Amino acid sequence: MNVVLSLLMNRCRLIPLYFMIALTVLTGCSVSKNPLRKEIKKLQNGTNKDDSSYVYGLPFENARAHFLVQGYFGNFSHKERAALDFKMKKGTKILAAREGVVTRVKEDGSRGGTKREYRSDGNNIIIQHFDNSRSGYWHLQKNGALVNVGDTVKKGQVIALSGNTGYTAFPHLHFLVWTSRGGQWNQIPTRFETSKGIKYLRAWKWYRSKY
Ligand SMILES: [Zn+2]
Repeated sequence: MNVVLSLLMNRCRLIPLYFMIALTVLTGCSVSKNPLRKEIKKLQNGTNKDDSSYVYGLPFENARAHFLVQGYFGNFSHKERAALDFKMKKGTKILAAREGVVTRVKEDGSRGGTKREYRSDGNNIIIQHFDNSRSGYWHLQKNGALVNVGDTVKKGQVIALSGNTGYTAFPHLHFLVWTSRGGQWNQIPTRFETSKGIKYLRAWKWYRSKY
């Protein structure tokens, strides 16, 4: 065990010890090899100034703030996912972050927890946008969808109530965006309008919605 620990200490020297131990238990300190990971760092730092991408609204009510527990390619459950986890109480109103057409609604799941078998129980809504990208809203409460497949929704429209269904450790909203290139769907980071300007979000920070 000492050998393993000292090896890990070498690999993770920049991370405080207590956090490193927690990370080690969860992930073995490995990080995603997805090339997008480096790109996101540049976007978050504002190094990439040449950005004309769509600006999303935060998926919760105007002037409300939520804590981003896990960000893009986070080490807990987003290792290969460009997704965001906003901590929120069950029953919180979820807003469409961008206008589009509802292409999928699942709201009959009732189980939630950290067992892998619960993954398929995660209630969700998927919205298709005019540029052929899609956004997804996960872990909604049972019967918590307020829209149907085929509905056109406006940006900022209330579409669902949050919950804790599926593979989840606590009540939160898992939000993600995909684009399609050459028939293949890829998860991508997106920027958001926040009370402090347009930002690519980072984990462990509060973000206040601005519509
Ligand atoms: Zn997530």
